[in-house]
Order: sequence, then structure tokens, then C-alpha cells
Amino acid sequence: MQLTLWTYEGPPHVGAMRVATAMTDVHYVLHAPQGDTYADLLFTMIERLPRRPPVTYTTFQARDLGGDTAELFKDAARQAMARFNPAAMLVGSSCTAELIQDDPGGLAQALQLSIPVVALELPSYQRKENWGASETFYQLCRHLVHKPATEKPVKARPTCNILGPSALGFRHRDDVKEITQLLNQLGVDVAVVAPLSASVTDVQKLAEADFNVVLYPEIGLAAAQWLQRQFDQPYTKTVPLGSHATRDFIAEVCTLTGLPQPAQDPSNAHAHWYAKSVDSTYLTGKRVYIFGDATHVVAAARIASQEMDFEVVGMGTYSREFAREVRDCAKRYGVEALITDDYLEVEDQIQTLQPELILGTQMERHIAKRQGIPCAVISAPVHVQDFPARYAPQMGFEGANVLFDTWVHPLMMGLEEHLIGMFREDFEFHAGAAPSHLGSTRPAAENVAPIVAAPLSTPRSAPVATTSPMPVAAPARTDTLTTDTVQKVAVPAQAASNQATWSPEAEKELGKIPFFVRGKARRNTERFAQDQGVATITVETLYDAKAHFSR
Ligand code: SF4
Repeated sequence: MQLTLWTYEGPPHVGAMRVATAMTDVHYVLHAPQGDTYADLLFTMIERLPRRPPVTYTTFQARDLGGDTAELFKDAARQAMARFNPAAMLVGSSCTAELIQDDPGGLAQALQLSIPVVALELPSYQRKENWGASETFYQLCRHLVHKPATEKPVKARPTCNILGPSALGFRHRDDVKEITQLLNQLGVDVAVVAPLSASVTDVQKLAEADFNVVLYPEIGLAAAQWLQRQFDQPYTKTVPLGSHATRDFIAEVCTLTGLPQPAQDPSNAHAHWYAKSVDSTYLTGKRVYIFGDATHVVAAARIASQEMDFEVVGMGTYSREFAREVRDCAKRYGVEALITDDYLEVEDQIQTLQPELILGTQMERHIAKRQGIPCAVISAPVHVQDFPARYAPQMGFEGANVLFDTWVHPLMMGLEEHLIGMFREDFEFHAGAAPSHLGSTRPAAENVAPIVAAPLSTPRSAPVATTSPMPVAAPARTDTLTTDTVQKVAVPAQAASNQATWSPEAEKELGKIPFFVRGKARRNTERFAQDQGVATITVETLYDAKAHFSR
């Protein structure tokens, strides 16, 4: 057994709690020791829900183990029924309770409750949270879903269910809203979203819809596959994460329903805007490492490669149940997938690969911080930041915009630091220069007009007076950074006689470069022209020099 400080997933009964908490009228009676009530805090402190999860713990203690723990369970179930009056009940054990081998399913059956009781067998020592959520939702469907009438009522529009969103889900709340809007725009009505916000009655009606949309295969796929086997109800295979996948998802929905495919993306799809921007190639070839749950990792690899033009240098998942999908995906990018739930292994791989960007979980965010690499969080396990007050989906076209911002901004911040590092010693951009955009009294660049050093009150070698309460300030310079001085900074006098001259067009082109890098661009271009024996710098020379120095 390996002790660890941090895990990507909790035990499977936390997955069951995520399903129970997501639904409106299901109660979970959990045979568990006293300390297990900690799990409530995940929902109240991280997701900041307005109520505690609908869970009754038996909270047995060491002294109870000599007595009748089975009776303890039956009392808890009876009390939960009387107090919460749920429409269905889940019963099961946490890890420790599993060892005492009471049988919550059999015990609950003996109570002959008037509501459906679903017994959960969640092997805590082999499985984890997402599997627990998937198994719970699947068992709920098996117990609750009604067979639809043979003659389906005629509907004006096709209908679907959205399967997989749950409590403590990574952006599930906003993804549901975004995909519901998208489906509505296509002409599809969403009948039921489950388990998030679903009632027992909603789940009973699942088979009535024309098809299912599986948003999170880790939680919804097993139920969707069962619904297909039982009721011939098809389900979508594409997760609409990223612009390309969203278009594929739309095509899949249109094929399933026979609806016409829209001729163009909706107005909130902004990918084209970026692709056409002058600076878009800045991202080309960035080396990216991806780790998280299988759904988000597979989608992120596609977005990184096809939409951002990044190079995927490594990827992996903690979702063991979906290892095959992630391995297949990794092969497409010429890398080998790391399947592990040990964050130290992930850290080692990142250390070896030294990517320029990490797309990971909160743990990779910490790893990235330690290694000084830009990082964006793309997957559960969730953190308070993953429940923002603002609307921030990951899916659909708005989700693609959010992903773009979340991934690119850490890189641009990196660029900012890079620029600061690069120009720290530069005459125009040294550490002592005050921000010009504030109309400050930043001294004009030293090479424009020789700066006469302010006379020191004492020679450097002389001992510093200790009587003055304040340091003696050098007289303040009064020359502010005017257009004139900027011009002078940007156009230093031609120094050497063998230096190339600038054509008027090239000068004009140079003027378009932001002033704080213009001096550097001028010097680099002149150096390049000199090395190449170019007498007159043209626009073409300027861009050849740019290409040369950015290699
Ligand atoms: S029973 Fe399982 S979940 Fe509860 S404290 Fe022990 S290891 Fe953690």
C-alpha cells in the first residue's frame, strides 16, 4: 500500500454522493465511520452548494464494532426515510464499512420501504470516484427507467436527454446551459438532464426521448449504453469540447435527427477571429503537456493540435477505465500515454519533457508553479476556482472561447515576462524607466541626448553622511517623453559609414512596430543588413531580419 498526500479521485462512495447530491429527491444512506462526514465539505466548501448533500451516515465508532452495526444501519435508514421523505433511496458502504461486511442492500430490503431502494456495490479498494458516480447513475437507471409506450407520441421537434452532468462536476453547470442552447438552436428539445437537477420522475422518463447526449462519458456512458441496449435509444459519441468537436457534434445530432445542418457557426464562435489575427502564429509549435480525466485530455489534445497548432509532447490520464481511449489518442500524436493516479509520476514526466505549456488539473497547476511553466486547468478534480460566479462553460462555441482565453493567457503572460527579461538592460526599457503610458517623467533614452549625471552631493569614495534623515535626491529631470523624444529614440543617427541606409518604405514599416521594441528591431535589422552586405534596407530586409532573429 502506498500512502499519498493527494489523489486525483476520491473513493467510489464520493462518486455516489455526487449523483445523489445532483438529484432533487434521492437520499443516500451510507454505512460509514464517524470521520466520513468530511465528504460533505467537498460540496459545501468547494461547490458552495446552498445545502448539505442528502446523505445520512451511520457514523459507527470503534465501540460499536463489538455490537450490532447492522441494526445501526437499519435505524439510520428508517430515520432518513421519516425525516427526508425521498422518492428513492441509495444504500451502500464506505471503504471501512465494507470491511465489516454488513449488507446494506439486504438490510434495507428487510425494512420494506415504500420507495425504490437501490443497493450500491462499490468496491472501494479497486475503484474510484468517477467509476462510483457512473455505477450509481447506471444502477439508478436500471431500477427507475420505465419502458416507454410502444406508440411514441408525435412530437413537433426531436427530443434528447443530456447524460453525465453531476454535482462537483468540472464546469458541468455551464456546459449544460451551453449545450442546451446549442441543441435548441438546432431544433432539438432537451427532455431531461440527469443526474444534475433531475428528479426520480425525470429518470423514469429517460427512455421516452429520441436520443441521448453523453456529455461526460466517465459518468454517463454506462447508462447511455444500457439505454441503447434496452430501448434502442442511440447516443452521441462526440463530446463538444473545442470548435472542431462542436461542429462534429452538430453533424452527429443532425444525422441522428434528420435535421438540416446549419450553414455557418453561430455569432459567438470566435475561433476565426483569432486565426485571422496578425499574431496568431505566436502559438504555432508550442510544446504542450496534457493530463486530466480522459474526456478532457482527449479533447484538449485535439484542440491543442488542430485548433491552436501546438505540439503535443506528452499526455496522460488518471481515468483507468478509459485508458484505452487515451492510449489510442496518444498514438495519434506520436506519444505514449501515461496512465497513473500518482502525481509524482506526472511531475517526473513533466520535468523530463519540459513543455512550454501544461494543461492539467489543480495538481499540475502546482507542479507547473514549482517548475516555472505556464499552466491552465482543464479537468477535475475540482477546486473552488472551477465554480466561478460568471458563466464559463468548456463546451460548445462559447466553451471554445473560454478554453482559448484560459490556455493562451498564461502563455501571453509568459511572453510578457520574456519581453521584460529580454529588454531589461535595453536603453528604452530598463528597470529604472517609469511607465510611459502614464505620462511619467521617465528620462529620455540615454543615447538621444547625453545625460549629465546629477552631481552627487558627496564623492563616491567619500563616506556617506549619516546625519541626513532622508537620502539626498538627485535633481529631478524635467524632460518628459514627448513624441519628439520618442522619435529620437526610434531613429538614432546613422553611426558607421558602412551602415545600410533605410528606404522610406522600410522606415514607414518600422514605424508600425510598437515603440518599445522599435529600437531593438532597428538595430537587429541593421546588424542583419551589415552581415548580409545589404546597402539599402527595404521592407523585405526588415522581415528577413525578423525571421532570422526569431529562429
Ligand atoms: S472509510 Fe474510506 S473515505 Fe472514509 S476516511 Fe476511510 S479511507 Fe477515507
